[in-house]
Amino acid sequence: MFDLLIIGAGPAGISAAYEAQKLNLNYLVLEKNLIGNTIYQYPIGLTVFSTVNELELVPNTLFPAREKPTREELLSYYTRFVLENNLNVQWEEEVKSVEKQGENYFKVKTEKAEYETKTVLFAVGAMQYPRHLGVKGEGLPKVHHLFRETYPYVKKHALVVGGGNSAGEAALFLAQEGAFATLATFRKDWEETDPKQGCIKHWVKEPLEEQLEKNCLDVFFLNRVIEIKENEIVLEEENGDIETLPNDVVFILVGSDADLTMLENLGVKTKDSKYGIVPVYDEATFETNVAGVYVVGHFTEARHIAGAIEVPKKIIPKIAAKFEKGKFA
Ligand SMILES: Cc1cc2nc3c(=O)[nH]c(=O)nc-3n(C[C@H](O)[C@H](O)[C@H](O)COP(=O)(O)OP(=O)(O)OC[C@H]3O[C@@H](n4cnc5c(N)ncnc54)[C@H](O)[C@@H]3O)c2cc1C
Repeated sequence: MFDLLIIGAGPAGISAAYEAQKLNLNYLVLEKNLIGNTIYQYPIGLTVFSTVNELELVPNTLFPAREKPTREELLSYYTRFVLENNLNVQWEEEVKSVEKQGENYFKVKTEKAEYETKTVLFAVGAMQYPRHLGVKGEGLPKVHHLFRETYPYVKKHALVVGGGNSAGEAALFLAQEGAFATLATFRKDWEETDPKQGCIKHWVKEPLEEQLEKNCLDVFFLNRVIEIKENEIVLEEENGDIETLPNDVVFILVGSDADLTMLENLGVKTKDSKYGIVPVYDEATFETNVAGVYVVGHFTEARHIAGAIEVPKKIIPKIAAKFEKGKFA
């Protein structure tokens, strides 16, 4: 019987594990893919936008070669942190269900085993369901909902759909490395400058504008994507005109959503927020309406890596205190 079972080994799950270990909780982290899997899926060589202090699990332990770390430096940092601190993380083991057993404990099932735990912390992130456009041809093999690298697309007609930083970065990397790149976006997203609106950050937008001037990039102000064909893509411009562009590859980078099914099956309430559907939880403890079920990280309203790391530092001591008071004995 574990005191705490943590689902997910992203920054939130690793931070929670480290706090649980310091407080001598009997804990386990189960991760379906790799340690830091969301970061593993970032584009190869990407420099992240956060500053070092927002990414560190312990102050003064992350030392990138430049001001901000690359994907590789950050992934190495989180992986080595798990290994060097001997955190109890099992990766490549997906949690399939969590069931409440009476008042005091939960049964957690994976494809490999069953575990019993007094409390469960969901740290599952919000990457499970990349959003789709639902257009004809979206299932073609040349259509991707994740962008990893540019080199297969040199001198190819590459179209990126999206208005956030991920889409901006993909279009930039493709343009810089010799693809015929087009960013198809809503005008309001391209012109938005408030970072809180999830727009393209200025250090991506400025080099994108340079690529535009050098004619290495096109920006297409989109009304909608109509159809993706084998060698073309049919788009509706913001003025209603229909245009067909030559096309070899499409990246649809319009965000992703968390899978809340396990939480909903447990009876956890959800609500609509500016980020989409999020679980309802107590803002001080991050405990949901189901006693013993906690949530943390990027599918809550405490977003980004900084929030994912900071919240466990506050809430794990509160969970540990309940054990000391004998609530879970
Ligand atoms: C390209 C890109 C660049 C970004 N750059 C930044 C940045 O510079 N700064 C920043 O703050 N944020 C950035 N983000 C967002 C950042 O990655 C997230 O905020 C962060 O990963 C959230 O951490 P988390 O631990 O909450 O979730 P995640 O890192 O998503 O971790 C959740 C983990 O749970 C695992 N999991 C899910 N379901 C299960 C299950 N059923 N069983 C077991 N394991 C499961 C997943 O495999 C995953 O490893 C970026 C995102 C992208 C896509």
